[in-house]
Amino acid sequence: MAIRMYDLIEKKKRGLSLTRDELFEMVNTYTRGDIPDYQMSAWLMAVYFNSMTDEEIFDLTEAMALSGDTVDLSVFGDRSVDKHSTGGVGDKTTLIVAPIVAACGGIVAKMSGRGLGHTGGTVDKLESFDGFHTTLSPKQFIDQVQDIGLAVIGQSGNLAPADKKIYALRDVTATVDTIPLIASSIMSKKLAAGTRSIVLDVKCGSGAFMREKADAIRLAEMMVKIGVSHGRNIAAVITDMNRPLGNAIGNLLEVSEAVEVLKGGGPDDLREICVTLASLMVSFSCKCGIEEAKSNVLSVLESGEAFERFCRWISCQGGNIEYARNPSLMGQSEYTRDIISETDGYIVGCNAEMIGTAAMLLGAGREKADDVIDPKAGIMLYKKTGDKVKKGDIIARLYTERKHTLEVSERTLANALTFGNVKPEEEPLIYKVIGI
Ligand code: URA
Repeated sequence: MAIRMYDLIEKKKRGLSLTRDELFEMVNTYTRGDIPDYQMSAWLMAVYFNSMTDEEIFDLTEAMALSGDTVDLSVFGDRSVDKHSTGGVGDKTTLIVAPIVAACGGIVAKMSGRGLGHTGGTVDKLESFDGFHTTLSPKQFIDQVQDIGLAVIGQSGNLAPADKKIYALRDVTATVDTIPLIASSIMSKKLAAGTRSIVLDVKCGSGAFMREKADAIRLAEMMVKIGVSHGRNIAAVITDMNRPLGNAIGNLLEVSEAVEVLKGGGPDDLREICVTLASLMVSFSCKCGIEEAKSNVLSVLESGEAFERFCRWISCQGGNIEYARNPSLMGQSEYTRDIISETDGYIVGCNAEMIGTAAMLLGAGREKADDVIDPKAGIMLYKKTGDKVKKGDIIARLYTERKHTLEVSERTLANALTFGNVKPEEEPLIYKVIGI
């Protein structure tokens, strides 16, 4: 079939549905470079206004997933599990959850990305370990998962290339923020990555892609439907991102905090989300009920098995085992600055996006894709929403090698915090779990 892109634009403009064949051919033809960007842009804008049926979304996702390499994890039967977060500030959950699941006997074969803007990426955090490599050959990847139950690598360049090309076009044509296109984009990469089960952490709030709870729920529901329609076990957890997760923001600081959780400590909010995500993953991968999974998760945290698995993992991928055992050996930034409370009262708000931006300005993140990260840069946030403060208390400490950015980062962070006299009502950390 030779499609006429004009006809597909016309169809979508009139609110009609495209067939599976039409969607597959459109995706493949565009990926080959035989549909001009102006026509694809027009079709994307028609989707923005007229949406897509569930059937169309499933087919578009599959077409994008099959547009390049796919990972074959069939050697693990139906036990492989992946976890995806829609991106947040201070989100170091993969570092904690992956070794917990492996220590429980699960199979985590995962591809992760780099950070951009105010949110961080797992690959950047892992690369804080001197020598850690995030590129493994397909055989090394499978061998390591067989050996220790987990491997995390950077996303292969040819995974879902159709999504890469379409996402870049959406980014410059104001067609990113529509649920059918977001859900199909994320899920095309998850399907291509080959795991039988998927646990999604859909963040919601000021530091997240989805600002409103209702939108986060709609996105999560759609991604779960896509997963189910492609025969995957899938669940989504909708979690709060109106404040950063945990207290550390910045790569090495986050690694240290992850190690604290793996040793049985760490901040309560981070621990709670990790236990929830890990329990869902264990339940899928080890084929047990959620209560049994949770009890296994808590047990490997308490016994130190999760932490030992973390050390083995870092060492297997070339990282320094001493640093895995004690990240503080990696040292500290040259410049630090404290943010001091000027009043007595409560923190009533801390804008996660602004705090992520403050950390990025210190060197912890990238403004542009080719910026170089400083692993030691970042922020320790000692007080968050709901905490009582006294005049003179240290609220946060900034770390950087870039002395000249301290002022602007400090101002950004100070503007992110709001104070009041009354303790604010506590917001739930986990809004909803879908699909289980
Ligand atoms: N992340 C993705 O991978 N795709 C989107 O469309 C939005 C966020």
